[in-house]
Amino acid sequence: MRIAQVSAHTSPLAPLGGRETGGMNIYVLELSRELARLGYEVDIFTRRDGDLPHVEEIADGLRLVRIDAGPAEPIEKQEIVGHLPEFHANMRRFIEDQPEGYDLIHSHYWQSGWAGTLLARELDLPHVVMFHTLGEVKNRARFGEQEPKVRIRHERTIARRATAIVTASDHERQLLERYYAADPARMHTVPCGIDLDLFQPRDREAARERLRLDRDTPVLLWVGRLEKLKGVEILVDAVAGLERRDFTLLIVGGDERAAEIRAELEAQAAAASISAHVRFEGAVPHGLLPWYYSAADICVVPSYYESFGLVAVEAMASGTPVVASRVGGLVSTVIDGVTGYLIPWRCPGPFAEKIEVLLGNPELRANFSRAAQRSVERFRWSSIGLRIADVYDAARERHLAGRNEGVTVQVFGKEAWEAAVLAR
Ligand code: UDP
Repeated sequence: MRIAQVSAHTSPLAPLGGRETGGMNIYVLELSRELARLGYEVDIFTRRDGDLPHVEEIADGLRLVRIDAGPAEPIEKQEIVGHLPEFHANMRRFIEDQPEGYDLIHSHYWQSGWAGTLLARELDLPHVVMFHTLGEVKNRARFGEQEPKVRIRHERTIARRATAIVTASDHERQLLERYYAADPARMHTVPCGIDLDLFQPRDREAARERLRLDRDTPVLLWVGRLEKLKGVEILVDAVAGLERRDFTLLIVGGDERAAEIRAELEAQAAAASISAHVRFEGAVPHGLLPWYYSAADICVVPSYYESFGLVAVEAMASGTPVVASRVGGLVSTVIDGVTGYLIPWRCPGPFAEKIEVLLGNPELRANFSRAAQRSVERFRWSSIGLRIADVYDAARERHLAGRNEGVTVQVFGKEAWEAAVLAR
């Protein structure tokens, strides 16, 4: 079975920890690797953003196809919208040149979902979509930025027309039903996978030595794309409110495009007189992150919203308890009072309180650590890959059933759809 994965706005090979490169990139890459291991032939389509090969073999049965759409350089995610029609046209051309064709399209994020919806209709293929984040949900998280209406309108159409939708948590599934009127029968909840061979506890002393950290000073860790939705300012305020001053806060993630938010956080730390306790590491290669999780006493995830939240699971797999916001997918990954704490309010006080509790109680931390390691087995890629394969089977059956019943794949007026995007 040949699968076209679509990740238009960001390449799965891009370095992680940039403003737009995080969970979705690693998800698309690792899922595709797993599917290739299972015997699928997988091509990942992304927008060309540099002087890089058109087609690149990543592994046996897995290729990355870079599609020309707009300038061959990194551009803002919002700007990519205007180049989606070109992306769609060039991707279609590529597909038509492939003698074997594809059996299914799997799109990630609404921009790819836009192209995937059109292509699936034109080529009469099943379309599986995974949104990763939803505009309506981001807007309701009340963190201060507003997603454009056009995104939400398109998400609604994509959700209605998809043959199947993969949601990373039951919470995301409920949101899709409530805010997007998505058909529950077409939704499949499959959590994200993580590489449990990579994320395992490593020797704490060795990890601290490697990262030039003091052996005995408590270490708090934050990891992610440095963007507003992640609520890092809540964490900086929380540690500023701790009575103790014997801690180091490591902030991992953020490239030059995150310079502004980093400067804000630095100013915030300076104003609270804790600059000496806060270390900005910048983006760290994914393969080195196990050292960070293992060096840390606690990983804090103070996000306003997370549709899944890979960082929390990576931390728990590394034996590090998590203090996280009670939002989105984190509710289904962190077990409150067992593998970490879930905080219902987006304010520093309750975060500081739970950080104090854990730092002051090594035995509790050790119990949480053991429970955390045990809790992550369900995210092993080998089983997640099989569950996605089941979704593909269900989508193909549904597509065939629709075709046999003579249901016309009436999607929407293509011109109206394109115009709506271009009019932005
Ligand atoms: N990440 C990384 N290096 C960094 C920062 C982040 O490899 O410097 C990875 C991190 O390990 C995780 C992903 O980026 O796998 C972030 O995923 P998450 O689901 O937590 O957040 P998202 O990016 O989806 O908002």
